[in-house]
Amino acid sequence: MRWSRFFLQTVREVPADADAVSHILLTRAGMLRRVSAGVYSLTPLGLKAHRKAEAIVREEMNRAGALEVELPILQPRELWEESGRWSRYAAEEILFHLTDRKGGEYCLAPTAEEAVTSMVRAGVTSYRQLPVTLYQIRTKFRDEIRPRFGLMRGREFLMYDGYSFDADTEGLDRSYRAQEAAYRRIFERCGLDFTVVDADSGAIGGSASQEFMVLASTGEDAVVRCPACGYGANLEKARTGPRPVPWEDETITGMQEVETPGRGGIESVVEFLGITASRMIKCLVYETEKGCVVALLRGDLDANEVALKNALGVDHLALASEEKVEPATGAPVGFVGPHALPEGIRVIADESVRGAVNAVTGAGRRDWHVRGFATERDARVDDWAEIAQARAGDPCPRCGKPLEIARGIEVGHIFKLGTKYSTALKCEFTDEKGDTKPAVMGTYGIGVGRTMAAAIEQHHDADGIVWPLALAPFAVEIVSLNSADEATRQAGDALYEALAASGTEVFYDDRDERPGVKFKDADLLGFPLRVNVGGRALKDGNLELVTRHDRKVRLVPKDGAAEAVRKALEELAAR
Ligand code: ATP
Ligand code: MG
Repeated sequence: MRWSRFFLQTVREVPADADAVSHILLTRAGMLRRVSAGVYSLTPLGLKAHRKAEAIVREEMNRAGALEVELPILQPRELWEESGRWSRYAAEEILFHLTDRKGGEYCLAPTAEEAVTSMVRAGVTSYRQLPVTLYQIRTKFRDEIRPRFGLMRGREFLMYDGYSFDADTEGLDRSYRAQEAAYRRIFERCGLDFTVVDADSGAIGGSASQEFMVLASTGEDAVVRCPACGYGANLEKARTGPRPVPWEDETITGMQEVETPGRGGIESVVEFLGITASRMIKCLVYETEKGCVVALLRGDLDANEVALKNALGVDHLALASEEKVEPATGAPVGFVGPHALPEGIRVIADESVRGAVNAVTGAGRRDWHVRGFATERDARVDDWAEIAQARAGDPCPRCGKPLEIARGIEVGHIFKLGTKYSTALKCEFTDEKGDTKPAVMGTYGIGVGRTMAAAIEQHHDADGIVWPLALAPFAVEIVSLNSADEATRQAGDALYEALAASGTEVFYDDRDERPGVKFKDADLLGFPLRVNVGGRALKDGNLELVTRHDRKVRLVPKDGAAEAVRKALEELAAR
């Protein structure tokens, strides 16, 4: 492709709305144009990279035996009522929905479990037709609260979504593992440094779930990892081993009240009494659809609200507002006492307060705390659970060594769904014994644009993108140092034609611009290999070959340059 005939305009300034490196670079490289919040157009160059990522996904899924289908984007409300998800998605306001001329309601698909399940139930009747994994790579719509980071969190975005249907859970295990293996190949081919972590599967009622996280300081998700044994989970799912306790081998005292005027928050009590936060027990009051709940945690820890939701078996959970705390617990915020709660309010305690003695907590009345509190002696606990967030340095739940916390970008998700949708939508088959059973399902997703953006987050420098070969829109860029000079033009054209003829994806900067401008653009666009044609080198019968990732320059004879380029690309591919 000759730049002079291509539609591409690079941008010097950093766009005002761009908030991530990938977003800035994709915009500056002229690949992406914002249309509205979370809605983008891809230019020819942007689309080329996007298609590369898409093609890798398609190839690996076909290789894994999944079958491509096309499910509607425009989906009727009735279908979503069958699974019971319409109201939940509508309540979260994530669903884009609309009404047709006859008053029929529709949504723009945010995902497609219902649509695929209705396709399968119409065709599958016997266990002999299973297993089957169907997928599509199609646009999804989600009215994200905070669309940002360009392609990373759009409101309209391209997603691979796959769905497996098996006769039993052993079958689901196999289908799930086949997807996991395909995901690994996809992200490896994309040149990404990623880690697979356990994710929460509570809300949709599945039995296992993992996320593929690309490690990057700009990632929106926290990833908990153990460098010693390889344990990994996202923050919601992460567990820890037992933390060291501050009260070991102490003489147990009785409980006494101390006056703490105006000191409700943990920090101010700690300061006032001259103790550490780990000596405190905090009482968090939550509202749920099943009423108010008090959660007890050690003072130095934060609640993991997803774990808390799962432990309580509730769908809705939010910290109770200040006005609600006193009527529910008998004490204002900051002074709630676990030993002084009314009958009937449910109390759930984190494992971190099990066995606690000589602790400080609220007295159950304003401006007073108690010292010498002992959880099991003084409080009524209805449920024990692990409901505290993991912190860096906490012991690994598997091996006990210290955990690390890193930032990650979730590029893919695999999820064992079980029979929730197949039961609700009656996607059933008859097994060997003639019994009717719901199919056992898995659901799988990859963000195509997010993957492409994540690759840039990991592969860039101060001057621009450093494309991994597999995602680069073009493998090679020829830069003509002086398009007006006949010898330079001839040498550039000859190389361009030779490479194009042999199927190499080559971009030719044949514009009438100064070399400095072209070099800046070449660095910004970041194609893996660059060939400078002209100047001193050409006079000596040579061209300059520059690899983008290490900026190494070498001279190759003008004659046979095409061969040298192909060899250099092979070396890059093997890297
Ligand atoms: P997130 O937690 O980041 O909102 P999610 O868990 O809701 O994502 P899934 O429903 O698991 O997303 O979707 C599968 C994949 O689709 C994700 O792993 C991600 O790569 C991609 N994806 C999800 N939401 C978006 C979005 N708004 N823009 C771009 N890609 C997205
Ligand atoms: Mg997800």
